[in-house]
Amino acid sequence: MIPSIPVDPERRQQVAAALRAVLPARAVLADPEDTRPYECDGLAAYRQLPMVVTLPDDEAQVLAILKVCRDLDVPIVPRGAGTGLSGGAQPLADGVVISTARLNRILRVEPYARTAVVQPGVRNLAISEAAAPFNLYYAPDPSSQIACTIGGNVAENSGGVHCLKYGLTVHNVLRVRVCTIEGDVIELGGESLDAPGLDLLAVFIGSEGMLGIVTEVTVKLVPKPAQAQVIMASFDDVATGGNAVASVIAAGIIPAGLEMMDRTSSRMVEPFVKAGYDLDAAAILLCEADGTALEVAEEIARMTEVLREAGASAITVSQTEAERLRFWSGRKNAFPAAGRISPDYYCMDGTIPRKQLAHVLARIEEMETTFGLRCANVFHAGDGNMHPLILFDANQPGELDRAEAFGAAILALCVEVGGTITGEHGVGVEKIDSMCVQFGARELDAFFTVKRAFDPGMLLNPNKAIPTLQRCAELGRMRVSGGVLPFSHLPRF
Ligand SMILES: Cc1cc2nc3c(=O)[nH]c(=O)nc-3n(C[C@H](O)[C@H](O)[C@H](O)COP(=O)(O)OP(=O)(O)OC[C@H]3O[C@@H](n4cnc5c(N)ncnc54)[C@H](O)[C@@H]3O)c2cc1C
Repeated sequence: MIPSIPVDPERRQQVAAALRAVLPARAVLADPEDTRPYECDGLAAYRQLPMVVTLPDDEAQVLAILKVCRDLDVPIVPRGAGTGLSGGAQPLADGVVISTARLNRILRVEPYARTAVVQPGVRNLAISEAAAPFNLYYAPDPSSQIACTIGGNVAENSGGVHCLKYGLTVHNVLRVRVCTIEGDVIELGGESLDAPGLDLLAVFIGSEGMLGIVTEVTVKLVPKPAQAQVIMASFDDVATGGNAVASVIAAGIIPAGLEMMDRTSSRMVEPFVKAGYDLDAAAILLCEADGTALEVAEEIARMTEVLREAGASAITVSQTEAERLRFWSGRKNAFPAAGRISPDYYCMDGTIPRKQLAHVLARIEEMETTFGLRCANVFHAGDGNMHPLILFDANQPGELDRAEAFGAAILALCVEVGGTITGEHGVGVEKIDSMCVQFGARELDAFFTVKRAFDPGMLLNPNKAIPTLQRCAELGRMRVSGGVLPFSHLPRF
């Protein structure tokens, strides 16, 4: 756990005064009572009071904040809704938070182009609500979509239930407008499907607020399917359920959603949302088909057959739209429902090859004994994107440390079986040490080279996502020859 660092009051006064000289008074918060709500994001076990919080109204004010920070050498932490689970928006004691809360306008919905142009503080779900009159919607649907912003989605390359079929944020964003730390406004991507030059849009999406401040986003909209139905398939053991996921994809079917919940998860969520889950099953799969009535009927029939062959003990198909939404509401509310059975939870996020699901779930079960903590599994199974929820009580001495060690062991396992330490929640501060497990010195060098090209002074969201070699060496995860680290020119903070 990172201890909270006290803010230097003199420095705060200096920086706040410089910001107030270029911004309306209400756009600068420096009193600890006002900045307290920003002290953490969804990784609430870690808290740090920021030095100053800014709430710009427009792009010109974002540029003015960046100039003050550049001139005074102040680090910057961009922030959307603060729902991130890896500490990406966690503030710094010597840093300025740029909140996009007031950059929340939907600028245009273009039904013929099937696009929307929005400011970064617009909520994910608000885009689909604005597109609904045109029978369109924005496909990537994180479970936090009621609150999280498109700026945060871009920075994390967020996913969701429907991303298996429709793609992640990176596949659904056409263009971003970005303020750079050097005071330029650049546009990456374009309104058409491809843009000339290097694909910097793909570099930027998922860059966790480390390369620039997003001030405008053009997203793709897709037509709402005429119909959708979801299958709830029950399994007597988790491994059979895991293998069934691989079987569905191997059969050439790309469901609109393919999610898995183990018994701990379905039992924790059922009393909360009354989704109608099979509480006796060791695991359930939710498999959605969407399209025309004919397409849905055909795909549901094929998936039913594959799931039965793969060992499903029961299959229920939603018969009404209300029932379909009820099945999904349980899945979408699983994280908040964890609070009903545990004072705290730690949500991990790693991705593995689908064929490894059964093996990894079995190993996680063994780790529950090793670390003496329970773990609920609810996740985007079709993408192999695991979300083990480690349940703990931060008030019990040592439990947070054990939860962190459990999480790190799961991520190491993901790498061991050919996967990655993140799927959609980003690295932030949470997984920065696990980056040393996944990447070597040359790769870290390449990451820092990209970072420096956008942010030579290393002021944007520093000390997140990319570990220094020093840090990896201290963890014993970097080979040090003759007392000398490779790539000794890399930052040592
Ligand atoms: C209950 C719950 C369920 C969730 N379910 C999912 C899920 O299904 N899929 C998923 O992918 N995630 C999920 N998340 C995680 C989280 O909601 C996403 O990562 C989301 O994209 C964060 O958006 P935000 O607006 O809250 O961003 P924040 O948390 O405020 O910030 C996230 C990152 O984006 C950066 N950032 C924010 N705005 C900008 C900007 N304008 N310019 C540059 N950088 C910026 C921040 O610096 C930070 O690094 C869930 C979280 C919760 C609490």
